[in-house]
Amino acid sequence: MNASTTASQKIATRFAPSPSGLLHLGHAYSALFAQRLAASGEGRFVLRIEDIDPGRCKPEFEDAIVEDLAWLGLEWEEPFLRQSERLDVYANALTQLDKAGLLYPCFCTRSDIAAEIKQAGAAPHLGHHGPDGPLYPGTCKHLNESERAQRLADNQPHALRLDMDAAISAAGNLTWHDRTHGEQNAQPELFGDIVLARKDVATSYHLAVTVDDAAQGITLVTRGNDLFAATHIHRLLQALLDLEVPEWHHTVLLVNNKGKRLAKRDKAFTLRAMREAGTDPEDIWAMSIRQIARQAAATDGI
Ligand code: GLU
Repeated sequence: MNASTTASQKIATRFAPSPSGLLHLGHAYSALFAQRLAASGEGRFVLRIEDIDPGRCKPEFEDAIVEDLAWLGLEWEEPFLRQSERLDVYANALTQLDKAGLLYPCFCTRSDIAAEIKQAGAAPHLGHHGPDGPLYPGTCKHLNESERAQRLADNQPHALRLDMDAAISAAGNLTWHDRTHGEQNAQPELFGDIVLARKDVATSYHLAVTVDDAAQGITLVTRGNDLFAATHIHRLLQALLDLEVPEWHHTVLLVNNKGKRLAKRDKAFTLRAMREAGTDPEDIWAMSIRQIARQAAATDGI
């Protein structure tokens, strides 16, 4: 297993937006934060467009991201990486996990899963919740070999799930280090048998982000606190795929005036709106810091 990032390694950070909407002040904070850390260590800053979700991602949002980041004065290594062009790389990672006996096909629809959870209501080991919602009840894990083979032969649409128990046995106990929250024991079991390849696209956020952070040589993953728990999974996948282990820095999330995490509907916070209102891009970093200070003060009741 690879050791964690060594002190002699140059820092490499990344900004990895999904082109499903316009960037807002929270994104600007994340991107500038990552770039400033890289610059302070004379390191690398890379951009990755996370566009594996064909239903939500649009090329015009990718164009807008590139334009907004350039407006902010950011520079990244070219060419940047686009996940939709890397399905062959993710397929190799899936083959590696499959060869290790850690994947199984899942033919369930969302409603199959909901019905199974409801029906199993009384069974204490089923229907538990994880950080991303109810845990998969294991229906397809328990298919017998001939039924599984038949459904595959019939080309029934299926996802690929990680057999979490087998994966944890293979990887053993793992830890990871967050720069603000300290040393963490990895708890991937919280998520159950996660999907690593979706029915509609043969990868998933967890698989793609883990493979790509390693491929881009990222030594410090900076991202919002909403993805803190996902790191338990990423650490497990790194161990299973024998990838370099970075450090993490999960940052505070910017919220709107109602205390809700910034989202697409918060139009006034988009970089586009600020630019059109004549904001100087040099002021954006200070604006994000002021916003974080306001949030902290509100939390303290002033
Ligand atoms: N693409 C994710 C997002 O836009 C971020 C993924 C990450 O930083 O790991 O929310």
